Amino acid sequence: MRHLVVVLGDQLDERSAAFDGFDPSHDRVWMAEVPAESTHVWSHQARIALFLAAMRHFARSLEARGISVLYRSLEDVPPDADLGSELAIALREHRPERVILTEPGEHRVEVVLQDTARRAGVPLEVRDDRHFFCSRERFARHRRGRKQLRLEYFYREMRREHGVLLDDGAPVGGAWNYDAENRKAFPRSGPGEVPRPLAFPPDPITRDVLDLVARRFGSHPGSLEAFDWPVTPADAEHALEDFLRNRLPSFGDTQDAMWTDEPVLYHSRLSAALNLKLLDPRDVVSRAEREYRAGRAPLAAVEGFIRQILGWREFVRGVYWSFMPEYLERNALDAREPLPGFYWTANTDLNCLHQTLAQTLATGYAHHIQRLMVTGLFALLLGVDPREVHRWYLAIYVDAVEWVELPNTLGMSQFGDGGVLASKPYIASGKYVDRMSDYCRGCRYDPSRATGERACPLTTLYWDFLARHRARFASHPRLRMQIRNLERKTPREVEDIRRAAERLRSGWRAESTDEAAPSANRGEPGA
Ligand code: FAD
Ligand code: SF4
Repeated sequence: MRHLVVVLGDQLDERSAAFDGFDPSHDRVWMAEVPAESTHVWSHQARIALFLAAMRHFARSLEARGISVLYRSLEDVPPDADLGSELAIALREHRPERVILTEPGEHRVEVVLQDTARRAGVPLEVRDDRHFFCSRERFARHRRGRKQLRLEYFYREMRREHGVLLDDGAPVGGAWNYDAENRKAFPRSGPGEVPRPLAFPPDPITRDVLDLVARRFGSHPGSLEAFDWPVTPADAEHALEDFLRNRLPSFGDTQDAMWTDEPVLYHSRLSAALNLKLLDPRDVVSRAEREYRAGRAPLAAVEGFIRQILGWREFVRGVYWSFMPEYLERNALDAREPLPGFYWTANTDLNCLHQTLAQTLATGYAHHIQRLMVTGLFALLLGVDPREVHRWYLAIYVDAVEWVELPNTLGMSQFGDGGVLASKPYIASGKYVDRMSDYCRGCRYDPSRATGERACPLTTLYWDFLARHRARFASHPRLRMQIRNLERKTPREVEDIRRAAERLRSGWRAESTDEAAPSANRGEPGA
């Protein structure tokens, strides 16, 4: 055998660099379903199923084109198999001249595969991941000479470099960013009729996987009942088309709004298909732009959507590869609390958390503001150790791959990186949730109260967060106002808030040991 081409579960693209020069008569593809990738964090059952179903479909499509795939399925491998142990066996059996790999989406995996190849004495060639607009090397150039990274400058560079939403080199419409127009809430009557995203009922291959996951990982969080994710490029193409036609025109306005029993609203629900490489982001971006040029979607919606993909998605990847592996250890706010056990069960009377968590467990999906301003906000205000928060996010969302999950969680939502990704912590009281959703209407707490029987825990913890971190943020230009509001409170009020916050913390601390994920699955990621 000449080349053994390793294809990981989030590399399901026949046009990836690993296939350059592929010769079916001398080369083989190697893919493996290993239990360790589903258990190193306590993965949602739908996340496991999505990866396996998409991998099996991809292997079939390669074989249909005459490419021979050495495929190790979960049923073939020992219960303690991991990527390293399985690859080592393949290298011993087949003795390829070289192993070819596209850059993985997780630092840990890159290290494991490099070590395995080195120990087997087989050269490993890691090729650039061309899926992304911005290579690791290009991001390093962007970083050079900058004291601080900011999305906006990076995003403008990407727009210019890739000729996106430009007229004669200037931003279409005269502005680079229409974010200010994307923060509206729904009226009290709610969002009205929202076009439902296309569902993809499981075919026989996916049904086999669902049965397998139920058998092998039935004790994992989440449910498989609602599983309707696209698992092939053709499905993903339909999902994209459906979004562009039916939801993109309304994507912008209410991007930050939330509503009970409306998990998707006008979001695209394309992250998993993008992250598994079933969709090409260049295609997604150019077709979104086409909707604007054809007059079918307004500029604010199209720019807002493109900014997420050409801007944020590329930016967080750049941050990940720039700061790993030490990024994982960052804890700028010295947060040490355990994650409350109800994150795994949705069993809480805080309605915003209950709604977001119940939806997450049912589907493996929540939109950005639910992740950032409900589950993320609560963990930040409570002071949960960012590594625990990271493990939960990596486990629970179907689109979770570490390069995108970690900077969003540890950086954007927990401010654990001390300001690399976001210039300030995203903090708010329960009043924000009240403004942006209908959750508070169905809640026993009152978002405007910080103390007393009906005090909203988010509001209590918000003031407590400001009091705890006052010295650090007092001179921060974007938090000064919030600190000033805290200073308007009497010392007695602040003391009452701090006591109430401590009572909340000790309650959840006790609960986290009863309800949390099994301790065996709560260790550091590592196969
Ligand atoms: P839309 O709102 O329709 O956005 C369009 C696309 O833009 C998404 O599909 C996604 O590819 C991209 N995008 C949007 N926001 C971001 C962002 N902040 N970073 C990177 N890409 C973005 N996204 C993941 O893909 N995987 C994760 O594991 C993940 N973890 C997150 C954890 C936290 C704490 C937070 C705050 C955000 C996380 N995100 C993650 C980003 C974002 O929430 C999801 O990409 C988005 O909610 C997916 O839903 P959608 O496809 O409907 O997105
Ligand atoms: Fe969440 Fe507080 Fe609103 Fe209840 S009152 S839904 S806890 S923000």
